[in-house]
Amino acid sequence: MNRVPFIGFADEPDALKEQMATAALSVIDSSTFVLGSKVRAFEERWAAECGTKESVGVANGLDAIEIALRALGIGPGSEVITTPMTAVATALAIIRAGATPVLADIDPDTALLDPTSAARCITPRTRAVLLVHLYGQVRDMSRWEDLCASHNLVLLEDCAQAHLAKEEGIAAGAFGVAGAYSFYPTKNLGALGDAGALVTNDPAVAEQSRQLRNYGQSNRYEHPLLGLNSRLDEMQAALLNVRLDHLAAFTQRRREVAAAYRAGINNQRVALLAPELSPEQHVYHLFVVRTDDRDALAAHLDVAGIDTLIHYPIPAHQQASLKTIERDPEGLPHAEQHAASCLSLPCHPQMTSDQVDRVINAVNSFGSA
Ligand SMILES: *Cc1c(COP(=O)(O)O)cnc(C)c1O
Repeated sequence: MNRVPFIGFADEPDALKEQMATAALSVIDSSTFVLGSKVRAFEERWAAECGTKESVGVANGLDAIEIALRALGIGPGSEVITTPMTAVATALAIIRAGATPVLADIDPDTALLDPTSAARCITPRTRAVLLVHLYGQVRDMSRWEDLCASHNLVLLEDCAQAHLAKEEGIAAGAFGVAGAYSFYPTKNLGALGDAGALVTNDPAVAEQSRQLRNYGQSNRYEHPLLGLNSRLDEMQAALLNVRLDHLAAFTQRRREVAAAYRAGINNQRVALLAPELSPEQHVYHLFVVRTDDRDALAAHLDVAGIDTLIHYPIPAHQQASLKTIERDPEGLPHAEQHAASCLSLPCHPQMTSDQVDRVINAVNSFGSA
């Protein structure tokens, strides 16, 4: 029997593949390859989708976070509170901006950052909270807006997993001063290579970011800032413009797969995370379950022909490169427990109902033999 793959690029619609080929040809014919009209068109569309005034295309998601921090002047001497349960890029971006990451623990029911732990991490040097909308969920944003307002902190969003997840009609990235998106191929909206963007309602942040991504250049040959090279190229922007047409339908299918899992998975040894409070909140970049016997569940699913991954087996503070990272004085026990027990099931737009049923049956038969 065919395996159930973790990601379904090969099964994407032929129409989409043809549209991408046409878009690629138009870039070749345009003779413009970096920061041209296709980047500009994608930026305008992405800002409109996010409901923000501005979007700035950059080379990847890590750079989008770093550039947002630098545009806001959050660097040496500043602390930024974030989560250990994320892609390591989140902490790396803070460090590359010259600021100091401080890790708060997660809420075990959602795996999202815990406001109580975050509050314990606030010091006179804290400048910002960098929320990660982990697995694709935007949740309880008013709590974060209140916490940041009452301590005079900047709210920033790592939206790399949460393309157009919304709470009360507001999209990921539009709550904070800036939001950082990744369009790495496996993300809900992915390019065919590296790409990213930051979104903001602050024209000054957008202008600084445009300079920072391009050597700190204001006008040709004038460089008021020490910038980087984090430009978005025309090929990726053209492909993103095509793939964005399919994002709503793909997100809908992710939600259907997740709903089928929630209705069908029934095994005392396998726990689901808390359900979203409304459908728009979660775009199901990942569908994550928890079990005390994670390796055994992964092996059981593998034998049943089902691919799984772990997001994330090593929390940031246990990475060899980040062992001395600052953290909640009470420790990060929930993040450590989650890392030891979480498993990501296949959850992508190209899954068939048969494949979804196979995953459900295989999870439900775990431990019964
Ligand atoms: C993918 C990801 C990033 C980094 O994005 P890149 O484009 O790979 O640099 C940052 N944060 C989270 C939560 C991610 O999933």
